[in-house]
Amino acid sequence: MSARVIDGKAFALALRERVAAAVPAFRAATGRVPGLSVVIVGEDAASQVYVRSKGKATEAAGMASVTHRLPADTTQAELLALVAALNADEAVDGILVQLPLPRHIDESAVIAAIDPDKDVDGFHVVNAGRLAAGLPGLVPCTPLGCVMLLEDVLGDLAGLDAVVIGRSNIVGKPMAQLLTARSCTVTLAHSRTRDLPAVCRRADILVAAVGRPEMVKADWVKPGATVIDVGINRIDDGAGGTKLVGDVDFAGLSEVAGAITPVPGGVGPMTIAVLLRNTLVAAHLRAGLAPPAGL
Ligand code: NDP
Repeated sequence: MSARVIDGKAFALALRERVAAAVPAFRAATGRVPGLSVVIVGEDAASQVYVRSKGKATEAAGMASVTHRLPADTTQAELLALVAALNADEAVDGILVQLPLPRHIDESAVIAAIDPDKDVDGFHVVNAGRLAAGLPGLVPCTPLGCVMLLEDVLGDLAGLDAVVIGRSNIVGKPMAQLLTARSCTVTLAHSRTRDLPAVCRRADILVAAVGRPEMVKADWVKPGATVIDVGINRIDDGAGGTKLVGDVDFAGLSEVAGAITPVPGGVGPMTIAVLLRNTLVAAHLRAGLAPPAGL
C-alpha cells in the first residue's frame, strides 16, 4: 500500500487565502485591519527566521504586523511592560511572544500577562482552560492545524481511535483535547507509556509530537491509519550536510498508512496559517463580530 501524502503546504496556502479574503469585510465593518504584534527577545537564529516568516505572512494576508525586537539582556519587567502596553493598544488584536525566551525570564509569567483575548498562540491558562472545558477560545496553532488536516482527509472524526504521542502544553495536550471534542477515543502517550508500539497499533489516527527523529516505525502503525507527524528534527544527511525529518519513519510508514504528512511540507506550514486565522478570529471577537465561517 502506498499512503496518500497530505499536502500541508497547499492546505495552508488555501487557509491563508481564506483569511486574506475575509480582511476587507472586517475593515469595512471596523475601519481598521486586524493587527498582530510579535515580540522577540534575543538573537536565537531559528526564532529570527520564524518571526520574519510570521511578519511577512501577516502582511501578505492584508493585516497589520509589528515586530518588537528586544535585546537578549531585556529584563522581565521591561518585557512585561511591553506586553501591558500591547494589551492596552486597541489596534493590536494578537500578541505573540516568540519562545524560547532567555533563561533569566520566566516564560509562564510572560504568557500569563498576555490578555487571553489577544493570546493568538492559545498558551494562556485561560485559553487552555476554555479548551479543556469545551468553551470557545483561542486554540494553539499547531494542534488546530493538525485537526484541520485530519478533517480534510477523513471528514467526521467521531468514533475513531486516536493516539497522540507527546503531552506538551503546546502540542500534545491540546491535540488530545481537540480530538476528544471531535468524539475520538483518545490515548495520550508519553515517555512513560508501556509498550508504545502496541498502543500506536490501535490508532486510526496517530499523531507524533515527540522531538525524536524517525522514532515511529512502520510496524507500529495499523494498515490504513492516518498519520500526522508534528516533529521537526534536523539530522545529519550522511553527505556532509543536514536535513529535516519528522518523528516518524516516513518511507517505512508510507507503505502501511492510509495517509501521512511529510516533513517538511506537512504540519509546519499549517502553524503560521492558523496563526493568521487566530488573529482574524481574535479581531472579530474583540470587535463584537462573529468570526467568518469556514475558517
Ligand atoms: P516537548 O519536548 O515539549 O514534548 C515532547 C513529548 O514527547 C513529551 O511529552 C515527552 O514525554 C514525549 N516523549 C519524549 N520521548 C519519548 C519517547 N521515547 N517515547 C514516548 N514519548 C516521548 O516537545 P513539543 O511538544 O514542543 O514538540 C514536539 C515536536 O514537535 C518537536 O520535534 C518540535 O520541534 C515539533 N514542533 C513542531 C511544530 C510545527 O510547527 N510543526 C510546532 C511545535 C513543535 P514526557 O512528557 O513523559 O517527557
